[in-house]
Amino acid sequence: MKKACVWLAIISAIVLLITLGVVGVKLLDGNYDTIIEVYLTGISFVILLGSVVGYKLIGSRCPHCGKVNDTLLGKSKFCPHCGKEL
Ligand SMILES: [Zn+2]
Repeated sequence: MKKACVWLAIISAIVLLITLGVVGVKLLDGNYDTIIEVYLTGISFVILLGSVVGYKLIGSRCPHCGKVNDTLLGKSKFCPHCGKEL
């Protein structure tokens, strides 16, 4: 799952760069018919944000009980839910 988030982030970042490039080239060309590209840019930006948030959530999950380690004291060595070492 963690790897899937990383790949999703990479792919959406590439799509984002490509669509931004296409919009830029079109605008420089005097072509203002870029509504599809603008939508694609927005969608890929949302996917990128979502995958980064997902990665962070999965990254802070306990490998033993699967609960999110939501301790505010930074990275603790033990899970606050099941008490096992992380
Ligand atoms: Zn745990």
